[in-house]
Amino acid sequence: MSDWQRVRYDEPAEGVARITLARPEAANAQDYLMLSELNQAFDQAARAENVRVIVLAADGKHFSSGHDLRGTTTIHDVGAIGTQCHFDAEGAEGYMAKEAEMYVGLCWRWRNIAKPTIASVQGKVIAGGLMLVWPMDLIVCSDDATFSDPVVAFGVNGVEYFVHPFEAGARLAKDMLFTGRSITAQEALQHGMVNRVVPRDDLEAETLALAAHIAKRPLFGLTLAKQSVNNAQDAMGIYTAIQSAFGLHHVGHSHNRIKYDGSFVDPTG
Ligand code: ZN
Repeated sequence: MSDWQRVRYDEPAEGVARITLARPEAANAQDYLMLSELNQAFDQAARAENVRVIVLAADGKHFSSGHDLRGTTTIHDVGAIGTQCHFDAEGAEGYMAKEAEMYVGLCWRWRNIAKPTIASVQGKVIAGGLMLVWPMDLIVCSDDATFSDPVVAFGVNGVEYFVHPFEAGARLAKDMLFTGRSITAQEALQHGMVNRVVPRDDLEAETLALAAHIAKRPLFGLTLAKQSVNNAQDAMGIYTAIQSAFGLHHVGHSHNRIKYDGSFVDPTG
């Protein structure tokens, strides 16, 4: 048994692993501890021979309010997973390395898990919350779900895992980013950003029914299908687009630090 504090892991149906964000008292705000535990849980599900489909769900009223920058856990406490280094370097160097490791790096890693993944989403998904929803293959959300990335307000382009044009389409992506508004579940459905919208009370059952159905299908076929769709996005340049936007994101961060001489607390991380 794990001693995770921020996530839970169970297998609620045959072939289905469920990882649940378990910090509802903070609207599932993501500190480094949560991100690290989440990564460990994804690894456990990815490696489990009996698991064929992975569900990511959340306790409480809201799926996730984004990154928690007040967390006291450091990257050294949880350990790096990728190949970045110099996390404590001054200026843009350490800042960019940490975000490359804990934000973009983890999202890209989860996006490429060789098993189908399903996000089960309720309530608010704000900024960094999108970075847990979008890397999943399928998204089932309740009718009260809303999605927003308001960080243009803080002088940056959007969240670090910048896949907005791929997930919401270019037009809606610009609308979300320019206005900072929340899009509704129905609007997300109309634009193909989510797969299903269900009543709040049915969210868990509908997600598990979908997961259980997929889990009965041949895993290798599922893996090949997933990789083929991902490869098509790769051919469209998704990874290059993410890296390009991440560079601009850090122009925004650096601008804030220079302009405000360190007095500006950038809530986007
Ligand atoms: Zn950032």
